[in-house]
Amino acid sequence: MSLLAIGTVAFDAIETPFGKTDKIIGGACTYISLSASYFVKNVNIVSVVGGDFPEEGKKMLEDRGVNLDGLEVLPDKKTFFWKGRYHEDLNTRDTLDTQLNVLLDFDPKIPNHYQGAEFLMVGNLDPRIQKKVIEGLVERPKLIVMDTMNFWMETALPELKSTISMVDVLSVNDEEARLLTGEYSLVKAAQKIMAMGPEYLIIKKGEHGALLFHKNKVFYAPALPLEEVFDPTGAGDTFAGGFIGYLAETKDISFDNMKRAVIYGSAMASFCVEKFGTERLQNLTQEEIEQRVHEFINLVQFDISLIDTE
Ligand code: AMP
Repeated sequence: MSLLAIGTVAFDAIETPFGKTDKIIGGACTYISLSASYFVKNVNIVSVVGGDFPEEGKKMLEDRGVNLDGLEVLPDKKTFFWKGRYHEDLNTRDTLDTQLNVLLDFDPKIPNHYQGAEFLMVGNLDPRIQKKVIEGLVERPKLIVMDTMNFWMETALPELKSTISMVDVLSVNDEEARLLTGEYSLVKAAQKIMAMGPEYLIIKKGEHGALLFHKNKVFYAPALPLEEVFDPTGAGDTFAGGFIGYLAETKDISFDNMKRAVIYGSAMASFCVEKFGTERLQNLTQEEIEQRVHEFINLVQFDISLIDTE
């Protein structure tokens, strides 16, 4: 089962109440592919980096079996750079700097052997590039999941809406859902977003879990209450990688299976936030992942005998 993921491969500088990092490897596509690699063997990526991107960054992905044939290197340009600072609650952050660098010249090319992908994860990237990749696929994948962020809502809204109309599942956080629709109620926002095209919508709420919407149905998955959250960077992408990875592994895109995929995505995200950057995602075991999923099951399972009022 092949999975194609696009998005940024980046340098991030992160400040949290617990510490600061200078230029570590990040990017939406990095987190997505690391996370999905625990579910499917063939994760193919399409992205771009500059000549300054280190070999160990590529090796980290290759060690997890991620195929880098579609990772273009522009030797004279610099890698995309993002700098963010988290607030005390770790649920909100400010973007301090976004340097698009290589993204300004990125013309995505899809290697021939990537064609025929059944699952496509369109990670956070310029919506014009996201669209180009979707249009560059000879056969439409069975499922297209897309992630985006406030930056593109503020700088490229018409292009963003056009790309959103082409996908099956959109994943955004609560703040972004409100920004995209002008609705405070997430239920109203969900209706407006699904009217833009996607049949399914995921609204991530950080430490308060995630909602999955489809028509008039809604499913809620909590986030695991963790003793320590170190760095939330990449949690959304890690969630998305786990979500689509689980669907690709199980080859079932029903709403019921998407509920399970939301739990797996949440479990993967709970690992991501425990350490800075991608560190925690580099060598997880299947046992650790299954154990985490059990913790989710135990968190929400309860027995109630409803009193018969008839
Ligand atoms: P997340 O915490 O899951 O929302 O994603 C964090 C990742 O998104 C970081 O590793 C950044 O490199 C990446 N990122 C930040 N801003 C952008 C942007 N405007 N476009 C694409 N990727 C971005």
